[in-house]
Amino acid sequence: MEWFVERHDGTGFMVRGKKIAEHEGKQKIEIFDTSLGKMLVIDGKIQLTEADEFFYHEMLVHVPMMMHSSPKKVLIIGGGDGGTAREVLKHDPEMVKIVEIDRAVVELCRKHLRIDDNAFDDERVEIIYRDGMEFVRECDERYDVIIVDGSDPDAASMPLVSKEFYSKCAELCDIFVTQSQSPLFQKEYFNAVLRNSTSFSFRRIYLSFVPSYPSGMWSFLLASGETLKMDMAIIKKRYEERGIKTRYYTPSMHLSSFALPGWLEEVVRKYGIGGI
Ligand code: SAM
Repeated sequence: MEWFVERHDGTGFMVRGKKIAEHEGKQKIEIFDTSLGKMLVIDGKIQLTEADEFFYHEMLVHVPMMMHSSPKKVLIIGGGDGGTAREVLKHDPEMVKIVEIDRAVVELCRKHLRIDDNAFDDERVEIIYRDGMEFVRECDERYDVIIVDGSDPDAASMPLVSKEFYSKCAELCDIFVTQSQSPLFQKEYFNAVLRNSTSFSFRRIYLSFVPSYPSGMWSFLLASGETLKMDMAIIKKRYEERGIKTRYYTPSMHLSSFALPGWLEEVVRKYGIGGI
């Protein structure tokens, strides 16, 4: 009986399963067949399992996309597994650009995973293999929504939490979201997101439950240059009008995900970030 063990400083997570593919290049990429379905691991850290990837991808994508009246041009930074692009396409955008630093992630996921549901082959989707920091530095195109779906804190993904990155993204889009790791087990990274994202005048933290991620409590930063109104009636109307089919996201999940536990409210308030 084989087990995959993910180690974080002082905690861990185990999944029963066996390796079916691996690639060592810019990053060490492994794919496993496990008790949670197919699993993608990058540099020893679980990126997704088939059992709960939609808990993450649906909340990462539909919260910002529902806050936009007409999200037609979307930039995804990271997201080489295709789950984010799959959810973005449910809003019938005109153009989706994926900026992924490591071609091997897309290639292995195309071959062994396919959670993209053919998003990779959709004619509206363009994949650019480049560092997201370099891309935004030279970008002069505006987007309705920018979605940052980076990997765990490491050399490749750390530039995606820098002040420079956030201030450039603030110039390039109406609405911004990034996954911001576990506020419980990855406080340093989480606080770096809050500290460095002050170029956005409106910021809110929201949560999703992702069992295979450290602590299961996963956070996201929603940001904009305008004050975003959380109006249930509007969110419900857009959800119905756009005919979005989801298994985790619902309009009430949308609103309730911004309700934070007391200890976390205290942390985010220190950075001038309000509640719902
Ligand atoms: N859902 C996962 C999570 O929350 O940890 C993320 C999954 S996705 C596989 C992360 C992707 O970000 C990887 O494909 C990785 O190659 C990509 N990535 C990391 N740093 C990047 C950067 N600086 N620019 C573009 N893509 C990057």
